[in-house]
Amino acid sequence: MADGKMGRVLAATHNQGKLREFRRILAPHGVEVEALSDASVVENAEETGETFAENALIKARAVHRAAGGAVVADDSGLCIDALGGRPGVYSARYLGEGTPYAEKMNGILKELEGVPEEKRTAHFACAIAYISEDGTERVFEGRCDGVIGPAPRGERGFGYDPLFYVGGRSFSELLDGEKDAVSHRARALRAFEAWLAENR
Ligand code: IMP
Repeated sequence: MADGKMGRVLAATHNQGKLREFRRILAPHGVEVEALSDASVVENAEETGETFAENALIKARAVHRAAGGAVVADDSGLCIDALGGRPGVYSARYLGEGTPYAEKMNGILKELEGVPEEKRTAHFACAIAYISEDGTERVFEGRCDGVIGPAPRGERGFGYDPLFYVGGRSFSELLDGEKDAVSHRARALRAFEAWLAENR
């Protein structure tokens, strides 16, 4: 991996929320996640893919080309059934890239006005792309089913967490371990970890 030994991997993200989750999920398995110091490498990798897997690979390849070594990248998003799966791969760009999440969540609530509770189903999806030091590529996917709640709730997490409810509580109300037990990212990372364990 990144240092020629097993256990270190460069994360192709500047999203601190994702980075925290990478670390807390992979650390117990002996994988050390290094943060990328050059933000422009990921920012310049245009997410032209139509799927989470394609975009995760685009980001991972850009970082692998620029920095070498083993790389892991995440592409994820919120897919809302009543909106035909939107914002989906455009979740970060919904209402504009720099728009605060409070506004993005309000936008979603407005779009869902009048949609009955039982039709507010949604899922988070995550694709983790891994490129080994020698260029082997793998993609691992995970999803978490839930609903769009009546209002944002909770203080923890990041992004759309306050609006996404599982079992009556929003992702922002869950403790780290509770989110990691069910989340899309944790599921994809567990599949990655299982593959690594077999291929080390
Ligand atoms: P990406 O960084 O281009 O993959 O965009 C991911 C989008 O989905 C961003 O808007 C994130 O805030 C959102 N997202 C992905 N995973 C989560 C999560 O676990 N909680 C909340 N929002 C998430």
